[in-house]
Amino acid sequence: SFHKSKGQHILKNPLLVDSIVQKAGIKSTDVILEIGPGTGNLTKKLLEAGKEVIAVELDSRMVLELQRRFQGTPYSNRLKVIQGDVLKTELPRFDICVANIPYQISSPLTFKLLFHPTSFRCAVIMYQREFAMRLVAQPGDNLYCRLSVNTQLYARVSHLLKVGKNNFRPPPKVDSSVVRIEPRRPGPQVNKKEWDGFLRVCFIRKNKTLGSIFKQKSVLSMLEKNYKTLQAVLASLQNNGDAALNTSMDLGDQSMGMEDDDNEMDDDDMEMDEGEGDGEETSEFKEKVMNVLKEGGFEEKRSSKLSQQEFLYLLSLFNKSGIHFT
Ligand code: SAM
Repeated sequence: SFHKSKGQHILKNPLLVDSIVQKAGIKSTDVILEIGPGTGNLTKKLLEAGKEVIAVELDSRMVLELQRRFQGTPYSNRLKVIQGDVLKTELPRFDICVANIPYQISSPLTFKLLFHPTSFRCAVIMYQREFAMRLVAQPGDNLYCRLSVNTQLYARVSHLLKVGKNNFRPPPKVDSSVVRIEPRRPGPQVNKKEWDGFLRVCFIRKNKTLGSIFKQKSVLSMLEKNYKTLQAVLASLQNNGDAALNTSMDLGDQSMGMEDDDNEMDDDDMEMDEGEGDGEETSEFKEKVMNVLKEGGFEEKRSSKLSQQEFLYLLSLFNKSGIHFT
């Protein structure tokens, strides 16, 4: 009795399991993180290849089955099972992550791994085919999207293996692919939230020109609001001299908190009433934004064709002009 809602599709083809383990390049000294071990078909091969497996499994019945399977074998003291939702679990240190995951957590799990505080060599993960192709898509590819740009900023991503649905019991509705994700070290020198906010705007419509996206009232009013907030903080710091310096720590904390809240509201606003702002933006500010696009030659460009370097460059031009996305 498998739970569809938990994405329980068990890998039944032992040759495929072998091939995933082999392509992962596991060393005998590796601590391996597995997510969703299920009945343990992949777990067993991981235990053979590495030093230790830490497996995070949501379903208590699966946890029991897994423990029973390895009880009394030489593997049992090298397997640690954590019962819980991987998205809510604090992950341990590990060298490599290998997993056949439930597809509904693909996106949050990928970013949880990318933002994992301690470094790991790579993650080798089974995804739904289309999600995998989005991860690896390059500028100009049909599936190139915000997910592609965002992931590839933090990691090198490559497609390892196509996997047909009949390798699973029960078979899922869609085909799958195994992808390798290698975090870039050192990580990129960008502000995570700023980058994310920027990409959300650029990909409101990936085939529209940036010129027309940044002319949208909702976009301009959000940017102008951020701009004014920043200018006000800078002005008060300058005018109040020592007094401001003494309280600058407090000020900083408060404005961080407020920005978090504002940010979420802006995201919703943008998706709900695209093209309709509250009409507060001035033509002067609009010109400032257009000048940044012109300066970098981005006015007629479309996000569907821009490389990561071009996005980073455009964001730096905006920031240099005091224009921020958070
Ligand atoms: N790894 C096994 C295999 O390849 O045969 C099973 C993979 S199955 C696609 C996904 C597994 O993840 C299931 O065992 C399911 O119970 C578990 N799971 C689902 N949601 C989870 C979550 N949020 N955190 C941890 N495990 C989860």
